Amino acid sequence: MSYIIELKAVNKVYGKGNNTVVALDYIDLAIPQRAFTTISGPSGSGKSTLLNIVGFLVAPTKGDIVFDNEKIEFDDFDTMADFRLQKLGFIFQSFNLIPVLSALENVMVPLMIRKDIGVDERKQRAEKLLTAVGLGDRARQRPDELSGGQKQRVAIARALVGEPKVILADEPTANLDTESTETILRIMRDINEQFGTAFIFSTHDPRVVNYAKQKVSLRDGRIVAN
Ligand code: ADP
Repeated sequence: MSYIIELKAVNKVYGKGNNTVVALDYIDLAIPQRAFTTISGPSGSGKSTLLNIVGFLVAPTKGDIVFDNEKIEFDDFDTMADFRLQKLGFIFQSFNLIPVLSALENVMVPLMIRKDIGVDERKQRAEKLLTAVGLGDRARQRPDELSGGQKQRVAIARALVGEPKVILADEPTANLDTESTETILRIMRDINEQFGTAFIFSTHDPRVVNYAKQKVSLRDGRIVAN
């Protein structure tokens, strides 16, 4: 089995001296290629810390992260920023769309700083992905003209536009009703199967966990089920 991400004895401690919190307690975790993985657990169990480490936003205190067979050097800021841009897409619970931009322009945002992708290709990719998430006819609309579920579909297209290996989603269904949640999950599962993009979710939502191929459960910074 080949893995897209491996965490080896990863430990994360916040604070110093007598004031420390162990957020992750030497965890080992292997996330396969084409994963559809949920990370769940009670508040404070370490879900965000784990997602932030895997998103190269927070460095572990100890241990190694291997991404696509490459060991990550967290102290090299520029390489980390490039890596994040090229290899990862992000989806947030509050969508984080830019209000003054159209759906199409929002999807194009991650490509604005990609010198290797020309203007025409940016637009073509964004249009294709908006169609893939069922919003081909909403390209010109702004976020305030879209429902919550539609906003999250724009965010999924935006996360995909750089053709990342992995999409990290922080509670992506927290602000959605049941019907939109179903739609969003089906779209993400289709993309996972069609393009092989790996999805890693932090979530409390049993509907999301039901869709997962790998279910990781955290408690007090340790993996209790996987
Ligand atoms: P979850 O996402 O499951 O709620 P977190 O990863 O946010 O868990 O937090 C795990 C533990 O680490 C908690 O005890 C939390 O208070 C602590 N923690 C998280 N981030 C910080 C931080 N920046 N500084 C200090 N403690 C933190």
